[in-house]
Amino acid sequence: MRREHGAVTFRLAQVLTGHGCFGSYLCRIGREPSAQCHHCADCPADTAEHTLAECPAWALQRQDLVAVVGPDLSLPAVVQRMTESDRAWRAVQTFCEVVISQKEEAERLREASSQDPIRSRRRGGRRRAFARLIPP
Ligand SMILES: [Zn+2]
Repeated sequence: MRREHGAVTFRLAQVLTGHGCFGSYLCRIGREPSAQCHHCADCPADTAEHTLAECPAWALQRQDLVAVVGPDLSLPAVVQRMTESDRAWRAVQTFCEVVISQKEEAERLREASSQDPIRSRRRGGRRRAFARLIPP
């Protein structure tokens, strides 16, 4: 509460809450047919923890994170380190921005190429929403 550093960005919030661009969450809310990770071969349930600590697709980005935060990438440990140090906070935030933006882009591409009725319905909704922003 007393810390003077640390804004919670949209992508950082996704990782901290698990509500974001993760297969298990997207599947739960009906936006993906399965919870699997699309970025590695054999993870049946993509979660915030998987993205942060396990998924081999983000090993390079994780090296920078571990160098600052340490090897324990469980959410409680990461949050503890973030509240202790501005440097740790920024390292976690950078990881989240870089990795989640790539996951979001991959989700957009899946959505755009999908024939799945769940996704194409959403795509139509998005197109209509966009059309409303275009002035007459
Ligand atoms: Zn993965």
